[in-house]
Amino acid sequence: MKENLFGRPYPFRDKVRTFCQNPSGFVSEEVYDDGLSLVNGHSYKDRKSTNTNLAILVSHNFKDPFNKPIEYGKNVAKNLNELGNGAVLVQRLGDIRRGKRTWPEELERNDVVPTLKSAVPGDITFAIGYRTMTDILRFINAMDKIVEGFADPHNLLYAPEIKFYSNKVFIDKNFETSIKELYCIGDGGGMTRGLMMASASGIQMARNLIEMEEK
Ligand SMILES: Cc1cc2nc3c(=O)[nH]c(=O)nc-3n(C[C@H](O)[C@H](O)[C@H](O)COP(=O)(O)OP(=O)(O)OC[C@H]3O[C@@H](n4cnc5c(N)ncnc54)[C@H](O)[C@@H]3O)c2cc1C
Repeated sequence: MKENLFGRPYPFRDKVRTFCQNPSGFVSEEVYDDGLSLVNGHSYKDRKSTNTNLAILVSHNFKDPFNKPIEYGKNVAKNLNELGNGAVLVQRLGDIRRGKRTWPEELERNDVVPTLKSAVPGDITFAIGYRTMTDILRFINAMDKIVEGFADPHNLLYAPEIKFYSNKVFIDKNFETSIKELYCIGDGGGMTRGLMMASASGIQMARNLIEMEEK
């Protein structure tokens, strides 16, 4: 696990961040209950690729009159999946800049070899909104100044990578939910989003339980 990098690129100033960086890792596909195929990534202990993969996440908030962020994300994912005939889409960064889709033969001779073999080469810009796409491209350009090669045209962008974070269970400072003696910790309550905080909440809950027993 590595530190994530944040940015607020112009003109929207949305929060953009790296997430889940996997040196020598593999991009993976997660299929959700409603049939949506989303992108994720992981590393293996023994199996290594020649790539590093990471997510670039843009945070969006909705308010009035539209307040359905999960639906919004699902619709974006659905459109991307449709364009990939049900699979995750992949596109070369250079093709995005040139305003063209990536063709299978171009992907085959690309310098960066895709680690998710089931990803379909196409055009992610058909389904990702102007605001999100601008955020991502400007963030990549800014990152290139500190991580040389980050904006290389052969780099691959997979989509959709979407985190649905707005489902939060109400808990008090002892992790107790509105149902008495029902506690929620870690990602299950929508409170944490990563290993560190989920682990910390587990340790704190254990301490709370010991304290409660001693009383
Ligand atoms: C592919 C992927 C990559 C990730 N990469 C990173 C990363 O690089 N860095 C980072 O910080 N975070 C990463 N995360 C997020 C991180 O894994 C989670 O935030 C963290 O694991 C949450 O911990 P948790 O204990 O709350 O839940 P979990 O780790 O999900 O543990 C819940 C456990 O409950 C079990 N369970 C579920 N239902 C039942 C049941 N009915 N009965 C009994 N047991 C049950 C599950 O099998 C599971 O073992 C990644 C997540 C994924 C999916």
